[in-house]
Amino acid sequence: MGLSIVTDRFDVVIVGGGPVGMALALRLKAWNIVTLLLEAQSLTDPVTDSRPLALSYGSQLILRRLNVWDSLASVTPIQTIHISNHGHAGQTLIRSEDAGVPVLGSVVNYHGLYDAFYQMMRQQNVTFQLGAKVTSLTHQPDHVQVDYEQSGETHRVDAKLLVLADGGKLVSQVEGIHFHTHDYQQWAVVANIQTSIGQRGIAYEHFTLDGPVALLPSDTGYALVWTVPADQVDRILNWDEAAFLSELQVHFGDMAGQFVSCGKRTGFPLTLKYASPTIAPRTVLIGNASQTLHPVAGQGFNLGLRDAWELASELIRSANFAADVGSSRLLSTFASKRQIDREGGKFLPIRLQNCSQ
Ligand SMILES: Cc1cc2nc3c(=O)[nH]c(=O)nc-3n(C[C@H](O)[C@H](O)[C@H](O)COP(=O)(O)OP(=O)(O)OC[C@H]3O[C@@H](n4cnc5c(N)ncnc54)[C@H](O)[C@@H]3O)c2cc1C
Repeated sequence: MGLSIVTDRFDVVIVGGGPVGMALALRLKAWNIVTLLLEAQSLTDPVTDSRPLALSYGSQLILRRLNVWDSLASVTPIQTIHISNHGHAGQTLIRSEDAGVPVLGSVVNYHGLYDAFYQMMRQQNVTFQLGAKVTSLTHQPDHVQVDYEQSGETHRVDAKLLVLADGGKLVSQVEGIHFHTHDYQQWAVVANIQTSIGQRGIAYEHFTLDGPVALLPSDTGYALVWTVPADQVDRILNWDEAAFLSELQVHFGDMAGQFVSCGKRTGFPLTLKYASPTIAPRTVLIGNASQTLHPVAGQGFNLGLRDAWELASELIRSANFAADVGSSRLLSTFASKRQIDREGGKFLPIRLQNCSQ
């Protein structure tokens, strides 16, 4: 394996080209802040992740500003949220008109969002490298040295500011940042479901003793996120379709009609990971690298997108004054502005989980 000579210096190097890293790269491009995005996956590993993402109305507005919204292949609006507790007759309904917004949120899927971001990055000539797996980070007083492997070669670039948007994989290489973790001992089983009456713009959150079940309106049917105990996930993923639908019907009830068919099922392990602090010299964490939440809150990407937007705002402000984009002052300002939003996201899933107990 060869090592290419240091030639490239960037204001900002973003590690991780998930939707949060791409959002930051796109916004910085519009302001000519010299940025490189490095993503480990290559074009030959197409992103097929089918997880549904419920986006807040605020996220919709940000995605519009980034010109990504109109390229999304499938967007299903949420007009009403229906919250219920297993074994209790009552329910809570939240309607868009009560909140004074045209929609409470919208449902997209991860790979559709990924594709829309990727097309916009190409259209806007964002500088990025695919198949570029970052392997080592070396902190110097005035830059961070980033080594990555691509097509059997090791490359090296320097960044005034390193942004980790990698889901948290490289944080162990950054001194002073620690993860608080909580293993929920649960998995999320995700699948597209069709019902006898089709979806009517209602997102259901149903709390049970095993954890919450969410049905998000998606196209004509629903995207299911079913929280199951870790020791039962293999059994549930391997049920035949008829057994799966009938067990789900018993677990969820008939609020959304009869479950008539389901697509491919995928399981995701659920862990709360929370970095503290989120900044280190010339380094900042955003998105899942900063906080990985329980999906029932439907907040992980929404929070990550606000991380990206707020960080870009600080960088743009600093670049306008020709200031150092990696300064500790800028990073402290960013971290303190994000604190209240992060705290809400951290405790919401635990509060919601306790609702059913
Ligand atoms: C079942 C489920 C349902 C969910 N539902 C919702 C929802 O309704 N609403 C919501 O807001 N959120 C939801 N989430 C959370 C949401 O999916 C995440 O918060 C979001 O995907 C985080 O995006 P990210 O870009 O920070 O990280 P990721 O999407 O994890 O992207 C990280 C990227 O970094 C790359 N990478 C990793 N290591 C390296 C390296 N060494 N070098 C280069 N690149 C690297 C990876 O290849 C990847 O592309 C859900 C999650 C799950 C599991």
